[in-house]
This record gives sequence, C-alpha cells and structure tokens, in this order.
Amino acid sequence: DTAIVLFTRDLRVHDNPALAAACQLARRVVPLFVRDRAVRAGDPRQAFLAGALADLRGSLRERGGDLVVREGDPVAETLRLAREVGAEGVAVARDVSRFAQRRYDRLAEACGAHRIALKGFDSVTVVAPFALRPAGGDHYKVFSPYWRRWRELPHRAVLPAPSKVELPAGVAVGRLPGGADRAPVPGGERAARERMRRWDGSDYVEGHDDLAGDRTSRLSPYLHFGCLSPVELIGKAGVPEEFVRQVCWRDFYAQVCAAFPQIVDTPYRPGAHDEWRGSDADFDRWAAGETGVPLVDAGMRQLAAQGWMHNRARLVTASYLTKDLGVDWRRGAAHFMAALVDGDVANNYGNWQWVAGTGNDTRPYRKFNPHRQAERYDPSGGYRQRWLDRV
Ligand code: FAD
Repeated sequence: DTAIVLFTRDLRVHDNPALAAACQLARRVVPLFVRDRAVRAGDPRQAFLAGALADLRGSLRERGGDLVVREGDPVAETLRLAREVGAEGVAVARDVSRFAQRRYDRLAEACGAHRIALKGFDSVTVVAPFALRPAGGDHYKVFSPYWRRWRELPHRAVLPAPSKVELPAGVAVGRLPGGADRAPVPGGERAARERMRRWDGSDYVEGHDDLAGDRTSRLSPYLHFGCLSPVELIGKAGVPEEFVRQVCWRDFYAQVCAAFPQIVDTPYRPGAHDEWRGSDADFDRWAAGETGVPLVDAGMRQLAAQGWMHNRARLVTASYLTKDLGVDWRRGAAHFMAALVDGDVANNYGNWQWVAGTGNDTRPYRKFNPHRQAERYDPSGGYRQRWLDRV
C-alpha cells in the first residue's frame, strides 16, 4: 500500500507518469530524490537543481506530501527507504545516458532481489527511445526519416497533477541542497510553466536563428531537468511546427544515446576521422573567448556569463574548435557540459559529434565559416557587440 517515486530528470508534478501511477496504485506515496556524488554537474546545473528541488518540495507539500532528500547511491538509498516505509513498489523515469542505464539496471536487480515491484516510465522524451525503429535497425541514425515518422504519432494524453499525495508518518525528509540563488535562471516547475505560458512562438520560424533577436524559448534547462513535460509543451496551442521539430531533435538524440551510450567518448560513426592536432593553447584561447574571431568569442563569452548559448553560436563555436583549430571534440563537449545550465548528455555529445563530423551528420565534412555565419545570422552585429563589449 506504499510506493516510492524515485525522481530523476522529471522534477515536476504536472504530467508526471511515475508520480501519477504511484498515486493511483498506492495509498501512501513517498517521493524521493537522491543526491548522488558520482554525478559531477557544473555549478550552473547544481544551482538550478537546488531551485528545482525546492520548488518540487513546495508543490508536494501543497498536496499534503513532501520530498524526501537523501544523499548517496540512489539504488542503496531507495532500498533503505523502502525498508523504512515498507514500500512494495518503486516508480521511476527511465533515462538514456550510460550512467542512468546502469543505475536503472542495478535498481531493477536490487528490487527483484527484495521482491519490490519496479516500474520504469519513458517520460523524459515525447516518444520512448526504441518506440520507432527503422527497417533492419534498432534506432534511427539520420534525423529526417525519424522526424517524418515521429510527427505522425499520436501523443499520449497529458496527465493532471495529483491533487493529494499522502506521505507515511515519521519519515525524515532531509535537507535540500543550497545555492539556488546562484542559478543563472530560476530552477523549478513554477518558473518553467511561467516561461512556457509567456513564451510567444509566433516569430520562431523567422526568428530562431537571429542571434541578436534572441527569440528562442530558453526552455532547455527546464526540459533537461524535467521541470516541464515535453509532451505538454508541444501540445500547447499555437506552437509552430518548426519548434516541435526542434523538440524532436531532442528525442532523436535520446534514442541515439540509448542505443549508443558510449557517445560521450567514442565516435558514433564507424571510420570517422578522429585525430586531432589542436594544441592546449588553442583550446584555452577558445574556452576563454579570445580567439580573435568575433562571433566565436561572443558565443564563448555568452556561455561564461549566462551558462547558456544560442544554438547558432553553439554550432559556430563547436565547428571552429574542431574543424578550424583541430581540437578534439571531447574537450569542447566537456567544457560545455561544465558551463551549461542545460548540459545534457544526449543533446550535448550528440550535437558535438554531429558538428565534429564523427556523429549523425550526413555531411560530416561541412564547416561553418564564422564570418559568413555572422553576416547571415547577426547582420546588425548586435550579438557580437553585446558580448564583446563586456570585456
Ligand atoms: P529552442 O530553439 O527554443 O528549442 C526548444 C527545445 O528543443 C530546446 O529547449 C531543446 O530541448 C530542443 N532542441 C533544440 N535544438 C536542439 C538540438 N540541436 N538538439 C537537441 N535538442 C534541441 N541542448 C541541450 O539541451 N543541452 C545541451 O547540452 C546541448 N548542447 C549542445 C551542444 C552543441 C555543440 C550544439 C550545436 C547544440 C547543443 N544543444 C544542447 C542543442 C541546442 O543548442 C539547445 O537545445 C538550444 O540552444 C536551447 O535553447 P532553447 O531552449 O531556447 O531552444
């Protein structure tokens, strides 16, 4: 009669399949988040997470429940809590990174050994990683055919937030991590929903590549931590198809990562060029935003200042590092992971490999010329000025 919901990258109460199922199946529900020291997130993400957890605890308290926060190995802590509260079941959102896949497998094994029912939900993406398979393969390697099939699928219904969450008496809830005020943008579901409500995608089609206009949704950290359901987001009235297509890229890389979790360190494309001549000094100048190439430096300075970078600038800075300076994509990707508030294993490494020509690009030798890109996507020079004036 008691179930644990182990929160991972689904830090929300609206449209949360694991939470909804636990509330439906069990009388008492224990929401749990385990801070795992083995996860090395950079400062912007740590701070964002702190805010997201505080917000989640607030929402659960409003419903009569709470968020139990523990520290340690998520599998051991879940089992320990299950013993404490006499839980018969555990519900959890499944995730695609190598780390998350191993964690799920260990959890499944431990629950099996203790006769606890484990239910995994594919709620991080719109479409579950292996729900779409091409003929003769387990996942799509090229985006366009994936997108053509993905967009034809009916979406599942959006689930309401549970009205009541009943926590068993006497559970120690634990302390939240601090530092939420240092986040570049406020973490949490409330902030996510407010941003989703306010964001007007009407000029997204013409505007999403306009660097100075800065007209993308900036929902990426909220999607990364699951403060917002991607299913609910794309179902929002008035969302342009071009935006839905971007969210499909997110699903696309999730299925690539689920099938190829070595994506973080191993070239995805067999036989891809993977020798890098760039020096440490090249890398350092790039990371500091001091290459002397205005658009590249502007992007890197936006990253340092905001923990976020416009997608067009991500493409140009990553291309410059790998294809002009010849520096190993793994170094650039690690730098982005540490600095981005939306740092996401599947999206970050998938995109880096795409740009470096080791990944899913069907034209792996393409190179973005930073001067031509600037003329085209920052014709007024407004983006470069905004970030280079800050020196
Ligand atoms: P919007 O244009 O408003 O798009 C809406 C959502 O669609 C985004 O929030 C994101 O979830 C998804 N999306 C958009 N573009 C992509 C894409 N190319 N691939 C996957 N999903 C996409 N995105 C991350 O979320 N985390 C990362 O760590 C990350 N690293 C990247 C590294 C490189 C080198 C490149 C080229 C791109 C990377 N992206 C990453 C993808 C993209 O740049 C960001 O998702 C986007 O800039 C976030 O801003 P937004 O929310 O305003 O985007």
